[in-house]
Amino acid sequence: MEIRGDLPATYKCRNCQIPIAYRTELLSKSYMAKTGQAFLFSDARNIVFGQKEEKTLITGIYTIAAIFCTNCGEELGWKYLQASEARQKFKEGKFIIERSKISKHF
Ligand SMILES: [Zn+2]
Repeated sequence: MEIRGDLPATYKCRNCQIPIAYRTELLSKSYMAKTGQAFLFSDARNIVFGQKEEKTLITGIYTIAAIFCTNCGEELGWKYLQASEARQKFKEGKFIIERSKISKHF
């Protein structure tokens, strides 16, 4: 049940302003992606998935799928589908979104 009347801060697609994720879903700001800093989110909406692919990152090998804005088609980041390292399993099902692709709204 929503107690407060105000909406949580929202991260929107910088290109078309459609809501992608909420502040309450932000897990970490200390990730890097193609264009620089990236955020880890527990959930995201208004996205479509690209093909599954294997990606080798500093922390191990992952199966990921690129994510795109459903409205404007902009590539936003990726979803972790599977992690090879036991220590990285917590990332499975979570979303990396590039900071340069979203903007924060209150
Ligand atoms: Zn968009």
